[in-house]
Amino acid sequence: MARREAAPPRPPDPAKCARCTRTIAENDAVIFQHGDLFHRVCWMVLIADACIANARQVASLAVERLKHSQQRASDTSPQP
Ligand SMILES: [Zn+2]
Repeated sequence: MARREAAPPRPPDPAKCARCTRTIAENDAVIFQHGDLFHRVCWMVLIADACIANARQVASLAVERLKHSQQRASDTSPQP
């Protein structure tokens, strides 16, 4: 029975940014969040995107409430 040599251990895959998928260099500033590594800049972009999405949602909600309020005001105002 031939004895097979064990394959040499593979070097670990280099760490990659969860956002841009580029390799994280040793001197890159990184953020570790939710079990993933991010370039600091990529993390900041994700945070900014989330803030923008939230602001748009709040603005949209404000417009809806304003329309609703205007509708109620016109419904309750005395008719000539
Ligand atoms: Zn990145």
